[in-house]
Amino acid sequence: MAAPSMTVSHEILSGPPDPATLAQHKQAATLHNEGMALERQGKHADAIKLFKKALEIKLAAMGRTEGTAVTYNALAESQIQLGQLDDALENVQQALAIVNQQGSVNNQAYYRETLGLIYEMKGDLEKARSTRTGSPPDRYLCSYFQCPNPAPQPLGQLSQCSRCKAILYCSTPCRNNDWKRHKKYCRETKAEL
Ligand SMILES: [Zn+2]
Ligand SMILES: [Zn+2]
Repeated sequence: MAAPSMTVSHEILSGPPDPATLAQHKQAATLHNEGMALERQGKHADAIKLFKKALEIKLAAMGRTEGTAVTYNALAESQIQLGQLDDALENVQQALAIVNQQGSVNNQAYYRETLGLIYEMKGDLEKARSTRTGSPPDRYLCSYFQCPNPAPQPLGQLSQCSRCKAILYCSTPCRNNDWKRHKKYCRETKAEL
């Protein structure tokens, strides 16, 4: 009978990764960064391909860690740009499931905003509101994509769209600048925060 193996219980997180795993980490990070560059150039479909490859490697090499959640969310953001909302929804929910268990409060706020945006675009303002304003910890994002102040902040420092109440802004300029996008989805609702 063979001697019991010492490697079976050895998880990646329990010590410094071996060189092969390190190489995978590096490869996945490179793919992710190249995907981000393509996304910034508006090449969403190409970005999606790289994010999916990066994700495959990250899941194999690191499992469901915060670094994997980052790529799930980036993939979802590119899919949103192409209107692939169901795929985007699935991926950002994966990101949130990871960070809600073990992630930073800020990443929880970022991915919650991605999820809120998807619900908004799907026309489900009730879910957009409960996602964006719900669940502690008390950190929330301004929903304007190019907000000059993109750090998560307490809910009390943001104000909601007075008509739909499904979206949060840090300032009047952000609300006004986002209106061109948001007006497609905004409609009167009765709910309060
Ligand atoms: Zn803002
Ligand atoms: Zn609105």
